[in-house]
Amino acid sequence: MKTDNANPYAVLFEPVKIGPVTARNRFYQVPHCTGAGRNYPSVAAHIRGVNAEGGWAVVSTEQCDIHHTADMRAQVRLWSEADIPFHARMTELVHRHGALAACELVHNGSYSPNHIGREIPLAPISTPVQGPYPVHARAMNKADIANFRQWHRRAARLAKQAGFDIVYVYAGHDITLFLEFLSPRINTRSDEYGGSVENRVRLFRECIEEVRDEVGETCAVAVRLAVDELLGDKGITSSGDGREIVEILAELPDLWDVNVSDWNNDSMTARFAEEGYQEPYVAFVKSVTSKPVVGVGRFTSPDTMVSQIERGVLDFIGAARPAIADPFLPNKIEQGRPEDIRECIGCNICVSGNNLYTPMRCTQNPTRSEEWRRGWHPEKIPPRKTEDRVLVVGAGPAGLEAARALGQRGYEVMLAERSRELGGRVSRETKLPGLATWARVRDWRVGQISQMSNVTPYLESDMTAEAIIETGCGIVALATGATWRRDGFGRTDRAVIPGAERSCVYTPDDILDGVEPEGPIVVFDDDHYYMGGVLAERLRALGREVVLVTTEPIVSAFTQYTLEQSRIQARLMEAGVRIVTSHALVEIEEARAHIRCTYTEKLSVLECTSVVLVTALLSNDDLYTDLARSEHGQHIVRIGDCYAPGTIAAAVWSGHRFARAPFAEIEDYPPFAIERVALSEVASA
Ligand code: ADP
Ligand code: SF4
Repeated sequence: MKTDNANPYAVLFEPVKIGPVTARNRFYQVPHCTGAGRNYPSVAAHIRGVNAEGGWAVVSTEQCDIHHTADMRAQVRLWSEADIPFHARMTELVHRHGALAACELVHNGSYSPNHIGREIPLAPISTPVQGPYPVHARAMNKADIANFRQWHRRAARLAKQAGFDIVYVYAGHDITLFLEFLSPRINTRSDEYGGSVENRVRLFRECIEEVRDEVGETCAVAVRLAVDELLGDKGITSSGDGREIVEILAELPDLWDVNVSDWNNDSMTARFAEEGYQEPYVAFVKSVTSKPVVGVGRFTSPDTMVSQIERGVLDFIGAARPAIADPFLPNKIEQGRPEDIRECIGCNICVSGNNLYTPMRCTQNPTRSEEWRRGWHPEKIPPRKTEDRVLVVGAGPAGLEAARALGQRGYEVMLAERSRELGGRVSRETKLPGLATWARVRDWRVGQISQMSNVTPYLESDMTAEAIIETGCGIVALATGATWRRDGFGRTDRAVIPGAERSCVYTPDDILDGVEPEGPIVVFDDDHYYMGGVLAERLRALGREVVLVTTEPIVSAFTQYTLEQSRIQARLMEAGVRIVTSHALVEIEEARAHIRCTYTEKLSVLECTSVVLVTALLSNDDLYTDLARSEHGQHIVRIGDCYAPGTIAAAVWSGHRFARAPFAEIEDYPPFAIERVALSEVASA
């Protein structure tokens, strides 16, 4: 590997030409959803602006609808001139920091059921839309194709007017009309737009040429293409059609942005894929085109990035999640402090925000989506307002983030932790299968705190109310976490389960403490995020017979929003875990678990030796109650799971919010900015 002694990462900071524009370095924030989209325009624009400030040379939008026949309701749009101001806000912020702004034009074809506008969706063929909606898309005729080309051309023109430097023609996922045309699986047309690969490429090629014609003198034309659908022979593969498409169009765009489809494959979590996992699929592209190539792979290691460039795999380091977790990743590498990078843990909580149509949140970066709304900057924080010393009790994600951010503000902080280790639940859960990267939540914060002389961690410090009062700290944050319930109280019945007091019954905390129950084991999941599934996987790996009972119709139901659900269920099935869905645990007896179908109420029995209850948590807030009994003059706040159990992301956010406003109470009006819709006097497009 070529290295520059002064900066081993210098190659990452070389400028790269993209057609008529030049990127200042090789860091490229590829198009990604924010959940903010058209509904929270300034939230979305400021996310992009902060990324530009952090050193990304190219900052892209998410999918930008070009026409109301594919109305994705949450993502951004360019349907008419009226949408330009929205985008101009983003491009202005991006340009202010010297980056290029890219717009990913899209028509979502049969992926868009058009629930709002009620237009019939368009597709290469007549087909039910994707998803469980009772809607069909109709097959596009020649007039539709001609119209579509005009809409696409118009959107490119509008993008240029809005100030974009790069305009995308997008077939990066199977949710786009272009990929539907490219795919032999879907496109069974018999005219010149279907059949041979040349015919299936036709519409894509025409639109690339038309975008160039419309904006190409001053804007670069980028293509985003899924070169492999990971469907084997049934889909596009990087050794088959994917390669042929790139060969046919090789020199036509100014930039190739290549990935795998569908989104579940493109944004795999750390449970299922390592950094750089797309390389085997996209590596061929540079050998087929002379144009710059960008690819993704949850890149957070500068060494891996350099290796991608030096080995000729990519020209640009593409990132969505690493830029969400640390918008300042490029600047930190350039400034020679890669240890300060807040590395993405690959959990897809960000994706869940988008899938729930809410501005995304991030486990590692509590300021994400709060840049405009609350004025939170990922790197800067106002200096302290008082001289108080602060005691933080508990060094889980909430306590660590609170201590770190308070330390950054200049407060003197004591961080007291009962155990011998910092990290709380993160240190425990990171030992579960597939969750090793989650330790980054702890490690980044511990690394930052270790550079602060005003933050002192105290391990093996079990704090009592008396000990807390004795510290004399003016502000105390209780970040003492939560404990899994032993009584079986959960989401479905919201009642204790008879027999839960038996000695054969365990909780996730027991398993995390190293208990290995005897099989057969019933794992009862009434929680529905990762814990039930991951414990079943762990216990099965011990060789136990495991039955996973869940009240939902699928295992780990919330993970649908993190794109992991189908992989989790498949992994458990392949491991030999027996899965019983839509059943509640109603009673535990010696060697028997009684379960009830949540639809029919029918009862049945599972023979078992042990039961693990993954139902709900209770906050560890005894200290709060104890302290309320004495006069001590301290300002006491509960944060993270101690206040209300939730995700690690929620705990980090809670710790961060406390650090920014230690004295904040629940207010009568929202403490964040709201963008309200301006009412129109007349109907307009
Ligand atoms: P959160 O997710 O809210 O940060 P965690 O459960 O991850 O919560 O972390 C809570 C931490 O608090 C654990 O490391 C636990 O050992 C510690 N802790 C709990 N009670 C006390 C206490 N009385 N004194 C000191 N540390 C405590
Ligand atoms: Fe990475 Fe998780 Fe943050 Fe998404 S939420 S950027 S996956 S750390």
